[in-house]
Amino acid sequence: MNRFTSSFSIKQTLKDNDFIVSINENKKILFNKTEKSFLQSNKITPPKDKLYEIFKMEGNSVFLTGELNDLKEDQIYLSKRDLYPYLNEESLMIVSRAFQLFDWIHKQNYCSRTGNKLSEVRDDLSKFCDKCPREYFPKMSPCILVLLTHGNEILLVRHNSEIRTLYTAIAGFVDLGETLEECVEREVFEEVGLRIKNINYVGSQSWPFPNQLMMAFQAEAISKDVHIDEKEILEASWFKPNDLPTIPPEPSLSNLLIKRAIDSLT
Ligand SMILES: [Zn+2]
Repeated sequence: MNRFTSSFSIKQTLKDNDFIVSINENKKILFNKTEKSFLQSNKITPPKDKLYEIFKMEGNSVFLTGELNDLKEDQIYLSKRDLYPYLNEESLMIVSRAFQLFDWIHKQNYCSRTGNKLSEVRDDLSKFCDKCPREYFPKMSPCILVLLTHGNEILLVRHNSEIRTLYTAIAGFVDLGETLEECVEREVFEEVGLRIKNINYVGSQSWPFPNQLMMAFQAEAISKDVHIDEKEILEASWFKPNDLPTIPPEPSLSNLLIKRAIDSLT
């Protein structure tokens, strides 16, 4: 199968059959309403900003650039949230990488030790501070999702900080010095007061809100007796597979995690 693979180059030049992803200063991404796609064919006004190659596929590359000058009638800049309903698993990966690279290239320009201006981004994605001297690379934040099962039921929670009507998996940021398994156990205990066993890795996804790497796990709860952390969680309830509340939509990793767990129970 032809798939886009991550690549980065500041030297590659745009070819006729390549695609362009354009992100403007307000961090909105150019969307074509007719094609329902953010991958613009290279038949548009040439961009004024620099172009960075960010993906390769057999015969095509995807280039990231800034705002375009002359938009066609069916082109509009959308926020990440507004774009989300149009995404599938592969396009989410492309958007995620594009937004995170945009941030790294344009928004992170100073050395955190000396305040010195960093070099332009280089082909290995590094930026350089010649005062220190020191190389910087873009950072991401590892996060876990964990879905608990008990018998033939799953535990879903409503988070205080997210869309409050959605029922989803337990989630949290990995702490410094912590393994993923320790993080899963800690987050479960902090949020719903349960001990767990048989932690299994399910899958991962890059999530550009703003720069998370989400890693999903399924685990068995030792009891069903939840005690929620009311600061983080509004509700935690056990559900049977045939009686689910509103869960996060595709292509989110939480949607996949919940569906896999349901399949494993039925
Ligand atoms: Zn420095």
